[in-house]
Amino acid sequence: MPDARPSVSEREKEVLEYWEKNDIFKKTVEKDAPRGAFVFYEGPPTANGKPGIHHVEARAFKDLIPRFRTMQGYRVARKGGWDTHGLPVELEVEKQLGFTGKAQIEEFGIAPFNEKCKESVWTYLTDWKEFTRRLGFWVDLDNAYVTYKPEYVEGLWGVIKKIWDRGLLYQDYRVTPHCPRCGTSLSSHELAQGYKDVKDISVYVKFKVITKETDGNEYLVAWTTTPWTLPSNVALAVGEDIAYALVKHGEDLLWMARDLVAKLAPDGEIVREAQGSALVGMEYEPLYPFVRDAIKGTEQEKKGWFVTSADFVTTTDGTGIVHTAVMYGADDFELGTKIGLPKYHLVKLDGTFLPSADFLAGRLVTDEGVAVDIIKDLAHRGLLFKKEKFEHSYPHCWRCKSKVIYYAKDSWYIRMSSLRDKLLEENEKINWEPSHIRDGRFGEWLREVKDWAFSRERYWGTPLPIWVCEECGDKQCVGSFAELDVRADFDPHRPHVDEVVVKCAKCGGSARRVKDVCDVWFDSGAMPYASGEYPDRYPADYICEAIDQTRGWFYTLLAVSVALGLERPAKNIICLGHVLDAKGKKMSKSLGNIVRPMEMIDAYGADSVRWYMYTINQPGESKRFDEKTLVEMQRAVFGILGNVVSFYETYADGRMQPVVGLAGLTALDSWMLARLHETVRDVTDGLESYRVTEPARLIGALIDDLSTWWLRRSRDRFKSNDDADKLVALSVMRECLLTIAKLMAPFAPFFAEDVYLRVGGEKPSVHLETWPVVDASAINGVALTQMAQTRSVVSKLLEARANAGKNVRQALASATVTLPSGELGAEYVALVKDEVNVKAVLVEKGEYAVSLDVTLTPALVREGTVREIVRRVNAMRKSGGLTIDDRIEVYVQSIEPEVALALEEHRDALVAGVLGTGLCTTGDAPDNAETFRANEFEMTVGFTKI
Ligand SMILES: [Zn+2]
Ligand SMILES: [Zn+2]
Repeated sequence: MPDARPSVSEREKEVLEYWEKNDIFKKTVEKDAPRGAFVFYEGPPTANGKPGIHHVEARAFKDLIPRFRTMQGYRVARKGGWDTHGLPVELEVEKQLGFTGKAQIEEFGIAPFNEKCKESVWTYLTDWKEFTRRLGFWVDLDNAYVTYKPEYVEGLWGVIKKIWDRGLLYQDYRVTPHCPRCGTSLSSHELAQGYKDVKDISVYVKFKVITKETDGNEYLVAWTTTPWTLPSNVALAVGEDIAYALVKHGEDLLWMARDLVAKLAPDGEIVREAQGSALVGMEYEPLYPFVRDAIKGTEQEKKGWFVTSADFVTTTDGTGIVHTAVMYGADDFELGTKIGLPKYHLVKLDGTFLPSADFLAGRLVTDEGVAVDIIKDLAHRGLLFKKEKFEHSYPHCWRCKSKVIYYAKDSWYIRMSSLRDKLLEENEKINWEPSHIRDGRFGEWLREVKDWAFSRERYWGTPLPIWVCEECGDKQCVGSFAELDVRADFDPHRPHVDEVVVKCAKCGGSARRVKDVCDVWFDSGAMPYASGEYPDRYPADYICEAIDQTRGWFYTLLAVSVALGLERPAKNIICLGHVLDAKGKKMSKSLGNIVRPMEMIDAYGADSVRWYMYTINQPGESKRFDEKTLVEMQRAVFGILGNVVSFYETYADGRMQPVVGLAGLTALDSWMLARLHETVRDVTDGLESYRVTEPARLIGALIDDLSTWWLRRSRDRFKSNDDADKLVALSVMRECLLTIAKLMAPFAPFFAEDVYLRVGGEKPSVHLETWPVVDASAINGVALTQMAQTRSVVSKLLEARANAGKNVRQALASATVTLPSGELGAEYVALVKDEVNVKAVLVEKGEYAVSLDVTLTPALVREGTVREIVRRVNAMRKSGGLTIDDRIEVYVQSIEPEVALALEEHRDALVAGVLGTGLCTTGDAPDNAETFRANEFEMTVGFTKI
């Protein structure tokens, strides 16, 4: 079989040019829309990286529903968008410039740095545009919203102002996830995207009790997985109701939870027991003097290094005594605030120790060497109880992959926790596909929602529009450029915006902007408002992204809407699984298993790649991308349909009629039309419910039925002299192909167009067609069940034939079919006879069974011999390059009397079967003649072209 692949891709390119030349996309948006608007929002990608195979998945699904709704008579304007701010962009530029942190950016200058960011955003714009075009994703990129554009930023400010006016935006000093490399806070949704399993060293540390009664060998044992926080320890926490034991272990007396003694000190001996409440107030010596020295002489000095109680203490791991470093843990900070523990930083925002941390000064806290050196130091001083490797899931920066630390500092927050009920209520109204996302992955996230850490101490982002008065400290939120009294060409980015001084409304003093920018996820989350979709085109009827966006865009879109007091931003959401490699591994540069989408599209066509995404499994499941499956799909769906269309083109003669009311339909035709309308009904129902996989598979099954059953059973009708029946067959075929083209159009827009145009669709494009309407009367239940019964009988009989070793070209005398109904229509019986090549079919009543009489009579053998000759000659015709318009005189020569008799009996069938005009049995064999045995009779067979 010749390799048809290049032509698929070439043909798609021709279709693309056809669409562009004829402005088809625009026409589909502008055509009559009796059913009104259908709203789609494009979740904006970032064009500073090349599009990957997972973008094919998202874009394929994004494209499908709008195309379907357009054909149904809706107007589906599709505005593209680009996400252009934030860490992803800044990091790319830092890499380009060889920077490793913020200090170098400041030195380089914020203005030139941001200029570079702005350029970098468009690095792969051409790739993205071409990829989007080539995939057939219809979206208006010419009028796309761009998140860095001043008008968009101003729109975002308007949203922030509304949130501010609702009292939901506030500043607080507290422990927040912080990326030391990027030098900025991260929100809980960003954090949720960066968990990785890591092995850390965890340590059990001895804190020396200094209460008078001890002999200097009594210790409290606490456990931590972040040894770098130990120098900042200011308290130990116990559970009031937890039972503790003092264990004699060597020379030491160690306090730990009683239930953990067997595990931690199995050879120890319990000398005393006490409730946690009895330990409260016990004082101990700081592990390191750094914090105490730094706060010496202040009020705080006396407030640390004792045992307190806290309700978060458990005995599930650790020792039941919790090391507390208030500046580097959220629980710790809350406890510290409650009981007034000393708050003092030993670590800078860049994650390195301050000079006050002595031997650790200047070192990055997350370096493994730091943990090792602290442990060595503690061991040297006899303060290490034990250490062990500890495997856990730990958050990393979603962009730069650095370990995140928890760090106390000032940040801006949106009070999402106060909106939890409303978030859940609005989520209830969303139709999620798959449905379990609503209460599962997304609902669970919302139930645990934290306040949104909104500010970023970065450069390339939407500036937080809060101005603080230098005189009285009053804060005001700016909602538009007009409030700033700036020029029309004002660039709202840093550093320009930082220079704008505003008059304080309270005291008339000078107010300056805070230095922060906003979480980049806010940019896209606020897109309905900043891009002008709200209020007319709100909420969206449909959005679609991959499952990671439950912590990203899906979340921020809902969060912003709810913070504004509005209803859900989208009615229907398809949430996609991830695309993995063929072995189920995540694709990554380092593993070298990245699949390049354009290579796949060039090799197999965009339609095949799209079809793969729709049908390989349910949208919500992760997909193991395997090129082999793609090849199979391409052949099974598009290869087969292509062959059917070619067959149609061979016989089509322009006389086709509408099939409604067409006389002379065979049982096979009625069945085919029933299958067609059944499929129209189910595909429509499926897509209207945002199910994609089943409809696509149903179309595949319909194509298979059309080709391998209806057409295969109908082939002779096209070649016969019964002109009326040929017309019926052609009309049925055309109806099927046109309808399939329409059903397929949202899924495989190129191939559907190709079929539509080749079969003679009336509109300039299948995409301008109206969606097929189901004709319920065509869904003939009797035809469907009888044909299903027939096909089952045929396949069982063919199996029986194969088991008996009888070639299907050898006619057999009879078959017996037992059916519960005892009935099978005459046309279906004829079908069975023909398919199975038996002379008679007996239908009896009883439990479903089939049997075959495999006894051969000489007459049956003669008939089989002729069938074999027909097959051979047709194979020779094909290899001789003859077409169906060529006629031949067939030549058969044999000395066997049985062959002569066979030719005499079946002369007409032979001549007709090979598109011949006559039979010659004497004289010289033609050049192309072959000698072979059929049914043990030797013969020479060939033909002469006429
Ligand atoms: Zn980072
Ligand atoms: Zn003021």
